[in-house]
Amino acid sequence: MSDAILETSGLTKEFRGFVAVNDVNLSVKRGTIHGLIGPNGAGKTTCFNLLTKFLPPTRGTIRYDGRDITGMKPAQVARLGLVRSFQISAVFPHLSVLENVRVALQRQRGGSFDFWRSDSILRSYDSRARELLDDVGLSTYANLTAGELPYGRKRALEIATTLALDPVMLLLDEPTAGMAHDDVDRIVALVKRVAVGRTVLLVEHNLKVVSGLCDTITVLARGSVLAEGDYATVARNPEVIAAYLGS
Ligand code: ADP
Repeated sequence: MSDAILETSGLTKEFRGFVAVNDVNLSVKRGTIHGLIGPNGAGKTTCFNLLTKFLPPTRGTIRYDGRDITGMKPAQVARLGLVRSFQISAVFPHLSVLENVRVALQRQRGGSFDFWRSDSILRSYDSRARELLDDVGLSTYANLTAGELPYGRKRALEIATTLALDPVMLLLDEPTAGMAHDDVDRIVALVKRVAVGRTVLLVEHNLKVVSGLCDTITVLARGSVLAEGDYATVARNPEVIAAYLGS
């Protein structure tokens, strides 16, 4: 088995001639937490969308678990276990927290809302949904309407619905964006927990968030890779410091 689970070669995205992602060669090692960071406009979100197939690249290839996934659709790569976190807009605000996870499980296992399924199947969805809520620390919120959850807890729910898809590799897009300190610490601890036995690629603006979390960090600036290494190495790189100060 190759050491790398996700690899890009010459990954490039142009928007009408503007190069947002420029010749990026990324190699994410199996079983690690890898951070993709950079100042605003660095190309992180574009990269995230390329890797999860929500955008087609202009040039370059993406390999996941030994396969070329460059031409695949998002649902195909999700079936292979490469799963992205969804934004809060994907949480159904009028359903309960438990129902949100159950719907994610039903979609994963049954294809659509299979209300006609037997009670025993629905009970198995329920018990798995409760386990997932426990994993993300939301058990006490199970019966609350998702729309009533505080912001930080909504991001945890988003992670629970992502875990319902049985990911081998998780791609998380700024899971702590817009959060207060306590929530940031809680999500950082949660990412550490869900990374056990999986690979995680974390797209993040905040250097502090990746400091205690990531085994390897790739720094993007103006679409290109500026530096790579562990936190201590990239944090003292003068080009990285200058890129962040200039943002
Ligand atoms: P980041 O997530 O690091 O802040 P983005 O990937 O969102 O960076 O954006 C990188 C650059 O690409 C920015 O200059 C942005 O304006 C540009 N860009 C992103 N998406 C589009 C698009 N759909 N059309 C044109 N330019 C875009």
